[in-house]
Amino acid sequence: MLSKLKSWQYNLLTCAVYLLFAVFTMQVLNTLSVWPPAGVALAAVILFGRGAWLGIALGTFFTVIYHFYLSDLNPFTLPHIAINFATTTGNTLAALCAFIIIDKQLKKQDLFTRVANVAGNFILACVAIGLISAIFGVGVYFLIGEQWIDGLFKGILNWSISNSLAAMVISPALYFLWRRWPYQMAQETITQSVTLSLIIIATCYLVFGPGYKQLDLPILQPSLLLFPLLYCAIRLSPTTTSCMNMLVFFLAWIGGNQGWGYFYYHHSATAEVSMQFFFLFIFTAVLLVQAVFSQRQNEQEHLTTLLEQKVEERTHELERAKESALKLAVTDPLTQIYNRRGFFKTANKVFSQYLRHQGNCAMLLLDLDKFKSVNDKYGHATGDEVIKATAKILTLYTRDSDIVGRIGGEEFVVFLPMSNLESAVALAQRIRQGVEKQILSCDEHMVEFTVSIGVSALQKEDQHIEALLKRADKALYIAKESGRNQVQSS
Ligand code: GH3
Ligand code: MG
Ligand code: MG
Repeated sequence: MLSKLKSWQYNLLTCAVYLLFAVFTMQVLNTLSVWPPAGVALAAVILFGRGAWLGIALGTFFTVIYHFYLSDLNPFTLPHIAINFATTTGNTLAALCAFIIIDKQLKKQDLFTRVANVAGNFILACVAIGLISAIFGVGVYFLIGEQWIDGLFKGILNWSISNSLAAMVISPALYFLWRRWPYQMAQETITQSVTLSLIIIATCYLVFGPGYKQLDLPILQPSLLLFPLLYCAIRLSPTTTSCMNMLVFFLAWIGGNQGWGYFYYHHSATAEVSMQFFFLFIFTAVLLVQAVFSQRQNEQEHLTTLLEQKVEERTHELERAKESALKLAVTDPLTQIYNRRGFFKTANKVFSQYLRHQGNCAMLLLDLDKFKSVNDKYGHATGDEVIKATAKILTLYTRDSDIVGRIGGEEFVVFLPMSNLESAVALAQRIRQGVEKQILSCDEHMVEFTVSIGVSALQKEDQHIEALLKRADKALYIAKESGRNQVQSS
């Protein structure tokens, strides 16, 4: 939603909301001891960045014109043009300066979620927005030789506080309201929010409204507000908390405007300033508590994510270990083809399908010829190389769907799905020739070796793979008996 707004759109929005708040302040609150539009200016730079300066400038410009209009002053006299220019420039510069203070936190999106950022950057930005606009706004009266209501120093102080306080209350509320739109609130949250709003309205009525009664615990009465606000900060969302802050703020000033409540009763001469300081304290406390809980929640979420990642990594590791253990259990370590167990496990699975669906399949049983003498002549290590070379040839000559295994010292077996006796014998011949042609050079020796192969194919009466193996073994025996290095079938 945010990123979709074009520059002119968010500037227009900023200007319109600024004017809305300004008119509300001048007409309804009827006071200058708070200046809610300052909160709009800060919210604009928080939400839209420094590009919102134009909306802030235009909002201020039209507000000053409206102020002159309300006071029956001509906005086009030279001093009034100067006042308007200085106020507009001051407000715009103040917002830009506030933006610079919080820029880094905005990029990281942790302005309101870290205690250090709220205590340092956000509050500093609020002070900057108040002070800079006050220096320009009050200062220009002195430059043109006019007198600001309560003098230069007090004027700057009051203007600063009223703008800073409003920025501190209004900008988080506008920020969260805009950012979290559209809201999806659980029924329980809605109930809690409505209940808290009613409690806050009732408390404000009793503390800042016509319901104020002087009790013997003066300062405790306004402090009661801390309870519902802190409950929000701890238990509810930042959106709800900042809206509750804003509600208290407006109710207090509407009451104050009527001369109601604790501050006007006890400190009538300094009611506005006392109220400002009181709320600076209240809202700072609520913002900080909220940041403490947000930060803690974020840290917990971060830890949970880390933990989940660790668990996932460990699970993967275990799965990999399990896979390799399973593979190891069915693999011959010397040749990396199936061992006896692996071969029969895999071949049996395929074989059972043949029993159900009919079709051809065949088996080769291979035994290296006179292998004892290879060992005796060249050593056991060379014997191993011969076994490895034979396994390689078998893998090379067979298809992926064929199942190749080493089931004894120098005995191999190949299960051939979708193969009849004829094509199995042809393959056996190719393998036998391949082995015969293979010359292995080991330790300066040229080792030649041969293999005898017995072949069998599926017959109707075969119920187990062992039947094929038995006939292949018989054929192999004949091959050995007939002089070795040959293929026989049965
Ligand atoms: P035949 O032609 O009748 O098969 O003669 P042969 O010498 O190959 O006889 P036999 O199959 O009985 O001999 C197998 C020999 O293979 C016995 C053993 O020393 C050797 N052998 C068994 N396993 C291994 C092994 O893992 N590595 C090596 N180097 N030799 C092995
Ligand atoms: Mg043997
Ligand atoms: Mg042998």
